[in-house]
Amino acid sequence: MSTALADELDALLPQTQCTRCGYAGCRPYAEALAAGLADVDQCPPGGSATAAALAARLGRPAKSVNPVHGVEGPPRVAVIDESVCIGCAKCLPVCPTDAIVGAQKFLHTVIAAECTGCELCIPACPVDCIALAPTAPAPLPLGEIRARAARYRPRYVAHVEREAGRAAARDAALAARRPGARSGEAANPPPRVTTDVAPHGTGPASR
Ligand code: SF4
Ligand code: SF4
Ligand code: SF4
Repeated sequence: MSTALADELDALLPQTQCTRCGYAGCRPYAEALAAGLADVDQCPPGGSATAAALAARLGRPAKSVNPVHGVEGPPRVAVIDESVCIGCAKCLPVCPTDAIVGAQKFLHTVIAAECTGCELCIPACPVDCIALAPTAPAPLPLGEIRARAARYRPRYVAHVEREAGRAAARDAALAARRPGARSGEAANPPPRVTTDVAPHGTGPASR
């Protein structure tokens, strides 16, 4: 797989990070395309215009979006029903652009301009208080898809870095709680060496 080609293909994708292509995000899909493992018609948010751009770059026939992956609909944003939200914060870590603001036990709300409409927060919410509302007619022009992608990309990179930092902090906290960690002792200390027992066969009883 060519990294340079994957970079170019990733630059053509909408960066909603919705996973509807069947990959964990836009970058893994770009890598699969570059490796010849995916087709150009797997990205509903990018629509036919993006599929055509991918096909042109790869020298493959243009296709419209394969309905197996979803339909090319209007762009949407998440809206939280604040009268139902219980402030559990379960929607925060799944949001690829950190577009949801709020703290544990407080109401949460969505910054509409940063929301990619990926839908990942919907299954995370235990009280079903998140819905998606359309914001513009479909399909979005390719220029607008690219402009949005340029806005979403740095927020996604920052989100991934923040989540990695949190995971590392959690691992460090768990390691600090393991037996012996606080006193600086190893969890499995080496066997104690004693000099008061003679080696087998050489002590007084064998003489
Ligand atoms: S925007 Fe397209 S390429 Fe990116 S994760 Fe969604 S379906 Fe996949
Ligand atoms: S608020 Fe929900 S729909 Fe919007 S980007 Fe975040 S997870 Fe996706
Ligand atoms: S997951 Fe739902 S209930 Fe929990 S904070 Fe988010 S919107 Fe509110």
